[in-house]
Amino acid sequence: MINCLYICNDFRNEIQKTNRKTMKVSRAELKEELINAGIRPSVQRLAIFEYVRKSCQHPTAEVVYEALRDELGSLSLTTVYNTLKLFVDAGLISMLTIDDTFRCFDGNRCCHAHFRCSSCGKIVDLQMKKDFISLVEGLEGYEITDAQLYLKGTCPACLKK
Ligand SMILES: [Zn+2]
Ligand SMILES: [Zn+2]
Repeated sequence: MINCLYICNDFRNEIQKTNRKTMKVSRAELKEELINAGIRPSVQRLAIFEYVRKSCQHPTAEVVYEALRDELGSLSLTTVYNTLKLFVDAGLISMLTIDDTFRCFDGNRCCHAHFRCSSCGKIVDLQMKKDFISLVEGLEGYEITDAQLYLKGTCPACLKK
């Protein structure tokens, strides 16, 4: 995720662009991404990867499992979770651990902040200045491999209720 800090030059519209690009990505391109990451693109893996990459909803392993189990007969929740972990370890997607009990997955590879509404549970991607890490002091001598910003509260729709 940290790499995005340097990849996204104009961050203002980057999330929008990335989301659109993510939605349009073809199965062949996804397959190639897996191969380039050294992952054998089995039918199950490709379907799971496609689902997470095309979703803007930050699905949990359970959501991915429910969505794909009819299509992929022999699928188990454990397989889904392990496959998602494999993608995370390969840097293809990220895992959000907003609290101890809630883990979800994010196919949006551009650097962005997350807001979780404590009322409706929705997790929203938010634009973030690429140099937000410069706000942290005392990082000299550290190598940063991941940086995530989580915000919690109530979303505008729930505030209106
Ligand atoms: Zn809400
Ligand atoms: Zn996200």
